[in-house]
Amino acid sequence: MDGDRAERRGESRALATERWHHLAVELRDLLWLPPALRPRVAISRCLLGEPVRWDGGHKLAEELAADLAEWAEPVAICPEVESGLSVPRPPLVIVHDAAPERGGAVRLVERESGRDATESLARFATARLAELAPLDGWIGKSKSPSCALRGVAVVAAPGAGAPVVASGGGLFARALAAAHPSLPRADERELCGAVARAAFRLAAEWQLGWRFTASRAERGIAIAKLHRKLRGFWLAVEPQLARTLDRAADAGAGGGAGGGAGEGDGAARYAKAAAVRLYAIVARVVRRGG
Ligand code: SF4
Repeated sequence: MDGDRAERRGESRALATERWHHLAVELRDLLWLPPALRPRVAISRCLLGEPVRWDGGHKLAEELAADLAEWAEPVAICPEVESGLSVPRPPLVIVHDAAPERGGAVRLVERESGRDATESLARFATARLAELAPLDGWIGKSKSPSCALRGVAVVAAPGAGAPVVASGGGLFARALAAAHPSLPRADERELCGAVARAAFRLAAEWQLGWRFTASRAERGIAIAKLHRKLRGFWLAVEPQLARTLDRAADAGAGGGAGGGAGEGDGAARYAKAAAVRLYAIVARVVRRGG
């Protein structure tokens, strides 16, 4: 009995993975994306097996790295090493900045000595993020005070036994989220399943597709075609959204290849409404870690 259930679960996961992959491939076809053009996905360097961690080790996420190499252009980043820290190095923590004039900001400091690495990491983040653009996705190492998306303890002070006063993302991940608020984001634990990885791929392909077609005169036509193909998907997941997208796609197609004001508004509305919901759906799938 248990064997049957496990087999059925495996089959439904395989189907879901296939469905997300199929949508990603269709999206590429409809937007005429050249095969050599791949989503640029930034990823914590240690997840690719590079020995850059504070203890000299790595955290290779084997399946994730192999999967990414198939469809993305991975952009490896280690904010701590690239901002000047050594390997090995003392571990870092995030501390609450008690100075009232800084209104509850956080700082990145060495756990034992309290030596402050905030400014060098902030300078690095500003420069590197400008260089890195455009990006289509971000995969950060969970629990890292630099790279994690969320859930890192913020302590009251450096040193053993300091109380935890809050939790949040790592400092580089915070800077990245501020610079690219609509970027698909996940950590390696959320992407340990094939379904979640396939859903994340679709979100990154969407980001790339929109970026690539944004300057093209055929955008309105592409949006109308895309909508006809994906309407069944939207109807299944969110009928109300499908109707909103009907109107936005009509307005996008109405401008035609000439690219008038209607085209720009309709196509932009379509892409924005679809992207917001798509990322929300993907985030649900990714959090389930299927
Ligand atoms: S989590 Fe980020 S900062 Fe830490 S070793 Fe990995 S890439 Fe470097």
